[in-house]
Amino acid sequence: MAKTHKQSDEVILGPTGRPYHGFATPPELDSHGPARIVALCNQKGGVGKTTTSINLAASFASYGRKVLAVDFDPQGALSAGLGVATHDVPTIYDLLVDMKRDPHEVVVPTATPGLDLLPANIDLSAAEVHLVNEVAREMILSHVLRRLAPEYDLILIDCQPSLGLLTVNALTAAHGVLVPLECEFFALRGVALLVETIEKVQDRLNPSLELDGLLATMYDSRTLHSREVLERIVETFGDKVFETVIGRTVKFPDASVSGVPIIDFAPEHPAAQAYLRLARELVDRGAVA
Ligand code: ADP
Ligand code: MG
Repeated sequence: MAKTHKQSDEVILGPTGRPYHGFATPPELDSHGPARIVALCNQKGGVGKTTTSINLAASFASYGRKVLAVDFDPQGALSAGLGVATHDVPTIYDLLVDMKRDPHEVVVPTATPGLDLLPANIDLSAAEVHLVNEVAREMILSHVLRRLAPEYDLILIDCQPSLGLLTVNALTAAHGVLVPLECEFFALRGVALLVETIEKVQDRLNPSLELDGLLATMYDSRTLHSREVLERIVETFGDKVFETVIGRTVKFPDASVSGVPIIDFAPEHPAAQAYLRLARELVDRGAVA
């Protein structure tokens, strides 16, 4: 039988099995702030938290949003990925241990217009020990960020791969949490524990914390394995899984080395387009203004 022409009402499905939407370009904002604070969280390393923080932050900045990226991992990969050197400079650690300090003194601009950074370095690994004996030790980051929130539209916190006190601080400070999941073996291993931690924080510390969504990363549509893992993720979390899926590409390791977001470095690349689309999807869902 001859192949029929594509019908105009044909529905194209995205990789999550839902109809594909491009999502509209977010409207311009007339004024800025107060920020919605979103923590990128998964206690597994190497799932795309930092890559997503950098590129989602840059995507929102390109849509005219004022964005603050918070490096909350002592490895400092977010700072490095945004081209900011962190030895011998004040960092988020200094704000956590001295709450009288003005956080504005620690914020640095990045090469991307509209995107600022609160840097971190290895000093942050000492913060956990330091905070243990503090009063309201889970709320310290929240206090720091409340002083910065009026000037930004969005604050993204790049968490370290653990569910310790720093991550609990991030979840306590946040309005929403975004969970990147690598489309690989064991993607869902540990997610139950993460969800339990989020629920504990909701119960005890931050009742308004919302799970904004799960983001499938490093998806390779050519492999059955990747498709099966994504299917499992969607079966487990349904509509909480973003329709936008981030493909696996060597452009990310390249971009990390160059110290600039992929959307500045290769804006037409499908992975850059995917992060721009994720930003639009978050606005479409009402998760970010
Ligand atoms: P996390 O912050 O969760 O540890 P990263 O964002 O640092 O994860 O990513 C881990 C590694 O995988 C980095 O080397 C990064 O460049 C690479 N990476 C991230 N996203 C992708 C992707 N979509 N495709 C290929 N490599 C990626
Ligand atoms: Mg990281």
